[in-house]
Amino acid sequence: MDMVQPTVWAEALEVRAERPDLLPIAGGTDVMVDLNFDRSRPAGLLDLSRVEELATWSVDDGVVRIGAGVTYAQVESDLAELTPGLAMASRTVGSPQIRNRGTVAGNLGSASPAGDAHPPLLAAGAVIEVESVRGSRLIRADEFFVGVKRNALEPDELIRAVHVPVTGGPQQFAKIGTRNAMVIAVASFGLALHPATRRVGTGIGSAAPTPRGAPAAEEQLAGELDWDGRAPVGADVVRRFGELVADAADPIDDVRGSAAYRRHALAVLAARTATWAWDEYRAEEAS
Ligand SMILES: Cc1cc2nc3c(=O)[nH]c(=O)nc-3n(C[C@H](O)[C@H](O)[C@H](O)COP(=O)(O)OP(=O)(O)OC[C@H]3O[C@@H](n4cnc5c(N)ncnc54)[C@H](O)[C@@H]3O)c2cc1C
Repeated sequence: MDMVQPTVWAEALEVRAERPDLLPIAGGTDVMVDLNFDRSRPAGLLDLSRVEELATWSVDDGVVRIGAGVTYAQVESDLAELTPGLAMASRTVGSPQIRNRGTVAGNLGSASPAGDAHPPLLAAGAVIEVESVRGSRLIRADEFFVGVKRNALEPDELIRAVHVPVTGGPQQFAKIGTRNAMVIAVASFGLALHPATRRVGTGIGSAAPTPRGAPAAEEQLAGELDWDGRAPVGADVVRRFGELVADAADPIDDVRGSAAYRRHALAVLAARTATWAWDEYRAEEAS
């Protein structure tokens, strides 16, 4: 098996263009499982872990640019304030070993409907920066997932970074699994309040062929919240929000849970996270 290990980004793009038969590998926490179980037999690997710039992040004009090599552990330690929803989700991924190797870009590369980074990225309105020798383009997170474990990358493209807007409001992430750690989500939900634009962002995980938002629910909750007066949110409002989130899902029955359970769980997660986020927003003013 060929192993190509570029140390600079331009070289990585050239190799990607010349050798589309090489499978990109970042932390390897998905790739190596597939190789070990013989689910994938690529001609070789394009190892991106030696491209140093990918492991860095920066903030510019209210947007956090997270390099494709940034791990969950880095997100937890460095970005808890700037991207709180993604940091919450990162804390739930696998074990410390997985979080030390696994990357947000690798999650996007695998594009699993159950990927934990996806709901907070959708809720925050993230954009994926992808590049090839032909040039670079930005893809909205809600246009990035195109099918079960399929994303919008062209064969010669690589993910360079993820751009996550700083929403300036509370964010939440909640996940249901069969146990507390090392678990694939049965259902998950990300929520972000965008106070400056009076918007609510959502992300549904593990309950549709792709991660997706719940636009009708976003509109309903944003219209009901008392953004200026910060009055408490009514139980009926968050219950309705939960129903609309569940309506936006398209779950299946599988070994991890039934479609009916997933819908129910999502409604509960959505109502709870909306209450937590709004309470936090109200407390910010009081403090
Ligand atoms: C024990 C265990 C527990 C896990 N728990 C969770 C969990 O709780 N939640 C969760 O969401 N996931 C979990 N995972 C899955 C995995 O850790 C994540 O999907 C992780 O984000 C993958 O990142 P990586 O850097 O290891 O990707 P890799 O395995 O290196 O790559 C994954 C995919 O992305 C592609 N890729 C990587 N980088 C790029 C790039 N820059 N451009 C284009 N394509 C790229 C690869 O070709 C491959 O298709 C778990 C895995 C294991 C083994």
